[in-house]
Amino acid sequence: DSRIHGIKNRIRVVPNFPKPGIMFQDITTLLLDHKAFKNTIDLFIERYKHKNISVVAGIEARGFIFGPPIALAIGAKFVPMRKPRKLPEEYILEYGTDCLEMHIEAVKPTERALVVDDLIATGGTLCAAIRLLERVGAEVVECACVIELPELKFLVNFSFVTIGSMLEIA
Ligand code: 5GP
Repeated sequence: DSRIHGIKNRIRVVPNFPKPGIMFQDITTLLLDHKAFKNTIDLFIERYKHKNISVVAGIEARGFIFGPPIALAIGAKFVPMRKPRKLPEEYILEYGTDCLEMHIEAVKPTERALVVDDLIATGGTLCAAIRLLERVGAEVVECACVIELPELKFLVNFSFVTIGSMLEIA
């Protein structure tokens, strides 16, 4: 899909931010390009529009950017997953630990959920989001991210897709 190349080109890499050795993937440059931003959202819409998803759970803060347009287009509600302090699931990050919380009444048991974030590194954040949704009885269909950090070896036991990996799927 030729759209994928254009999207990747718009992601700015900031070396040694926020700490030495970290290559920060900056998605704000993607948001500045209407076509690349729209293509990003469209790729996810195409993938999820007929998957019977009723909840899009977006992870603070950049999941709040990509999640809502996907939710609106596929006819799902949007649930923000915030950091922290109610119903916390603690998890380990590349640089420290963090927590996620959501309003427990926002998602009903048996609902089908999609989790959205900008980037997967170790998978710890998405894993906490899945645990949180499963605690209220929802089924997590898939996790969708724009970027995947290939240098970080992770072992995840959940289904996720990134813009890059859509090349193989398409
Ligand atoms: P993980 O939990 O998979 O190790 O890390 C993913 C989380 O960290 C995501 O919420 C993501 O927003 C944030 N994150 C880690 N590194 C980067 C980065 O280089 N760029 C951006 N945009 N987010 C990052």
